[in-house]
Amino acid sequence: MRRQAIIDLGKGLRAERESDYQNTAHSDGLDAFVDDWLCTYHSFADDGELKPIIAKIRGYYALDRTTRINRIDTAITVLRMLYRATESATTPTEQAPPPANTHVEPAVVMPPPLALPAAKKTPTKRANKAPSDGPVTLNSHLKVVPGISPSLAQAFSRMGIKTIRDMLHHYPFRYDDFSKRTTIGELRPGEIATVIASITEVKSFTMRNGSTGVNVQLEDETGILKLVFFGQRWLLRQLKPEMSIMVSGKVELFGGIRQMSSPDWQPYQPLSAEELIHVGRLVPVHPLTKGLAERSARTTIKHVVDTYADQLADPLPSAVRQRAGLIDLASAIKYIHFPQTNDDVIAARTRLGFDEFLTIQLGVLQRRISWQGDPGYAMPYNAEAHDALLSALPFALTNAQNRALGEIFVDINTTIPMARLLQGDVGSGKTAVAAAAALQAIANGYQAAIMAPTEILAEQHYRGLSNVLGQISVRRSNEWQEAIDDERLSRLAEIQLLLGMNPNQSDGVRIALLTGSLGAKERRRVLEGVARGEVDLVVGTHALISEGVQYLKLGLVVIDEQHRFGVEQRQRLKDKGHNPHMLVMTATPIPRTLTMTIYSDLDISVLDELPPGRQAIATKRITNSDRTKAYAHIRKQIAAGRQAFVICPLVEESDKSDLPSAEEMYEKLQHEVFPDLRVSLIHGKMSAKDKDAIMVAFRNHEADILVATAVIEVGIDIPNASTIMIEGADRFGLAQLHQFRGRVGRGAHKSYCILVSDNESESTDKRLKAMVELRDGFALAEKDLEIRGPGEFFGTRQSGIPDLKIAQLTDTRLLQAAQLEAKTILRADPDLSHIAHAVLREQVEAFWARAVDAN
Ligand code: ADP
Ligand code: MG
Repeated sequence: MRRQAIIDLGKGLRAERESDYQNTAHSDGLDAFVDDWLCTYHSFADDGELKPIIAKIRGYYALDRTTRINRIDTAITVLRMLYRATESATTPTEQAPPPANTHVEPAVVMPPPLALPAAKKTPTKRANKAPSDGPVTLNSHLKVVPGISPSLAQAFSRMGIKTIRDMLHHYPFRYDDFSKRTTIGELRPGEIATVIASITEVKSFTMRNGSTGVNVQLEDETGILKLVFFGQRWLLRQLKPEMSIMVSGKVELFGGIRQMSSPDWQPYQPLSAEELIHVGRLVPVHPLTKGLAERSARTTIKHVVDTYADQLADPLPSAVRQRAGLIDLASAIKYIHFPQTNDDVIAARTRLGFDEFLTIQLGVLQRRISWQGDPGYAMPYNAEAHDALLSALPFALTNAQNRALGEIFVDINTTIPMARLLQGDVGSGKTAVAAAAALQAIANGYQAAIMAPTEILAEQHYRGLSNVLGQISVRRSNEWQEAIDDERLSRLAEIQLLLGMNPNQSDGVRIALLTGSLGAKERRRVLEGVARGEVDLVVGTHALISEGVQYLKLGLVVIDEQHRFGVEQRQRLKDKGHNPHMLVMTATPIPRTLTMTIYSDLDISVLDELPPGRQAIATKRITNSDRTKAYAHIRKQIAAGRQAFVICPLVEESDKSDLPSAEEMYEKLQHEVFPDLRVSLIHGKMSAKDKDAIMVAFRNHEADILVATAVIEVGIDIPNASTIMIEGADRFGLAQLHQFRGRVGRGAHKSYCILVSDNESESTDKRLKAMVELRDGFALAEKDLEIRGPGEFFGTRQSGIPDLKIAQLTDTRLLQAAQLEAKTILRADPDLSHIAHAVLREQVEAFWARAVDAN
């Protein structure tokens, strides 16, 4: 049926071509023909491969002649390819295996998937509506809770705690152990203890600053204990002789008498332990803010937890809880706030930490399923092509490069789309790995795309790859090549010429560059080349996966420097009819702990070895006063024929900072310090074209010093540069500094990194010291993570990193338990549509919404 549909559509289009694209082959024109075809084959209206073809020829009557020719020809070519595919699909050996995860026992007993509330898109943003009349829910504003005054509610809201639910999740950050209760006679100075005793005396005294303090004397059968309260005059009204109170605090010895300063206290009635809040147990200490005293915060939270915790819907079905040995959510919330024992704390933390890990795991694994759920293209290893590449490269691959390639070749040889992350320190040679992977795709008859974060980098890749791959002839085993007739071949040569490719090498890999700064005409040519399969490898920026780009047969996507595909981009590619393999490359070393959590949707290859002969880059931290020495060093290097970078954190002068901006630095260096040398300037506010021109000029040694902002951060390769001087070095993260440092030491010359900072803070000291001492990017990343914590480590831009309140990234056991559970859940219910997973699903959605917001 589908085959017939393809044949009929192809026939119609060929007829149109035969009548010279005049829109006369069909009565009422080609659009009417397409409508008729759609009536007959309406079941294919949404066919992933046919739909884009139809979309392209829609509105044919209004197209100009050239466009008509292009579209009809491309469509015919693609249809021919599809037709062949239907042919081969009927031979059983070539049939794609069914997608993984199809036959799995549901691990959880699920109620039948009815029309569920969860199936509706739940709004991820929870409104803080104060339900004026409606019932109080967990999402109600704190103001509606009896006993919470507007000013108290406001104090909490300063910490982001607005609703009852927020408050339930506002966990203590430590517990003071007041659980040891003793008599006064047993109190030892220096220990923290709790005592119950009667008040025998209450007196005020005047403090040195003039305000009133309160002295209280307690007695029990065993002795006397004095309490001193500084400035809490109101206690005079609350504490009366003969009253029994329970106090908790640190015991001091003052003039031979035991004493506690400003202890916690509460009136003592013989209550059950359950009801003690401030004393007599593990007392929670919650994060506080201005206007929020510990005591009232604790009382309020206690009230809210007692009243509302039981309303929390548990996201974990009880089967899952049992399997993982976890307590229910309401208990966990109660225990985390007001535990009786250390075991309570542990049980609560385990449960809540598990939830955090599980949410992340579900999210990432869903992403993996979305990438790998449908079969893609198997690309058998083509030794001939790989050997040709090895001989074309001016160096031998490192062991690490070979190992990574081995892993990639295995991946792409199956129909499960590869999802692999290639991690390798700056200069470890990731580009060569990408080239070898792309070449395999091309030799198998597919197209490859390499996406870089900036135009400069895309252009650099384009140049480098053209040199190497352009000279490699591939015998393409693809079908669509045969469809190119003579006329098309001559047009192809013309296009290649225009693309700057050498038509005499048309059996070499055909590479095109696609960036935003291409002219309209050039851009159209590239797009046509890509759509027709006349370009094998397209290198560019994010534009590569944008709307207008149609690939004939995209088989591999390489993403350089940390961009990764989400569900959305994948959907876009899928709509274009492709399930390509994906290789993500990053020079930001990601600590293992993180690769196990947020990167667990990717398989990982590591280049843990630099090509031979690289030297350590001498790194030194200096202050502003050492500047002249640094300049003398740069001058010496330049006299020896080298070049230098000077990095500044800011583009323009700013009132907020006394750091030199790139513009000021440029003026100063060119006109005062190095008037006899050639200084140039590059920053992010320049147009892509200008930036490009400057980078190219610098690479061609038309300047000696390049003053730059962070735009040069990633990947730029200028082997002659030997010194990089980084102003305001404390402004950058370690990973970023390490990236900067990687801009030098790429040639044979001894290289230097000078970090300038007057900041004397401890964390700056630690970080810059780490830079001086550590060469290895992985070690630096671990250090950075340790000093700054995961959120800052990645910066908000690429965060996607969940705010883990409880879970420790280092708690691999809990993480693995959550991972296992996530897999089990998704196997049974890949899109979390079962009613038992409604809350989980909502949480995962909210998690991604936050992650996206952070981007
Ligand atoms: P990165 O991993 O930072 O992207 P590149 O791919 O830019 O590193 O490679 C850095 C430099 O090392 C380039 O000049 C490249 O040609 C060179 N290179 C890559 N692999 C090797 C190798 N096996 N031996 C020697 N030089 C290599
Ligand atoms: Mg690179």
